[in-house]
Amino acid sequence: LPAPAVEALEADDVARLLPVPSATAHKYTRGVVGVRAGSSTYPGAALLCVAGAASGIAGMVRYVGPQSVETQVRTRFPEVVGPGRVQAWAVGSGSDTDAVTMLREALADDVPVVVDADALAHLPRRGSSPRPGLVLTPHAGELAALVGEPRADVEAAPLRHAREVAQHWQAVVLLKGARTLVVHPDGRVRVNTTGTPWLATAGAGDVLTGLVASLLASGLDPFDAASVGAWLHGEAGERAAACGTVVATTIAGHLPGIIRAVTARV
Ligand code: AMP
Ligand code: MG
Repeated sequence: LPAPAVEALEADDVARLLPVPSATAHKYTRGVVGVRAGSSTYPGAALLCVAGAASGIAGMVRYVGPQSVETQVRTRFPEVVGPGRVQAWAVGSGSDTDAVTMLREALADDVPVVVDADALAHLPRRGSSPRPGLVLTPHAGELAALVGEPRADVEAAPLRHAREVAQHWQAVVLLKGARTLVVHPDGRVRVNTTGTPWLATAGAGDVLTGLVASLLASGLDPFDAASVGAWLHGEAGERAAACGTVVATTIAGHLPGIIRAVTARV
């Protein structure tokens, strides 16, 4: 394969790619994002994934998951609603043993799906007709499990392994880490330039998964949703770090301000 061209998004690119609500917008035209995440063991992952989804630009967030988790989600986020049609799903953050069911149900809908964490292990082996609209969001350990190699081997050659997975599943791969890569199955690569080591904190990835799904629901294509999501998440992490120690909740809390600032550029 030829060496892939590597791009990096800048603030103006993100501004151009982010739709702002039109004068005639209503909540459904802005996009409905669904979250299937969390478990009684990891209810916080559902809350953080929903927080990411609610901090994007979609007009509505639906949550589907265990009753005890749904109660917590709806208490924390009164704007979140229950099952129904969505334009994109976020699946897998903290899903634990429910991951296989959550993934199957999300894939049954003909909409883009962001696959994270526990759900990555249950991706259907690719058949002759790959499912379009997949975004995979592994860290190096999860990518290593997907390719069946040691984590150290993935860390030594992250791009090669991410491309292998992107091609196998015909999916956009958002490989998280100190230098996040977004790889398209056609070979294009974007390297994320925003972020801070303070992002290495529990739940940060769950916020990103919800955010990327929100951008998909608002109409960005999978490559743009993943790379714009990584850019915004990194900026929010930087802004959170400027205010004190970063936890995942504060990353989500800074997303709306970042989005408003970047959309004000155009
Ligand atoms: P997760 O591993 O799912 O919790 O996601 C961790 C998030 O933090 C991802 O967005 C990573 O890109 C980011 N992250 C982790 N470590 C670093 C680091 N050393 N520098 C910058 N970002 C990081
Ligand atoms: Mg994670």
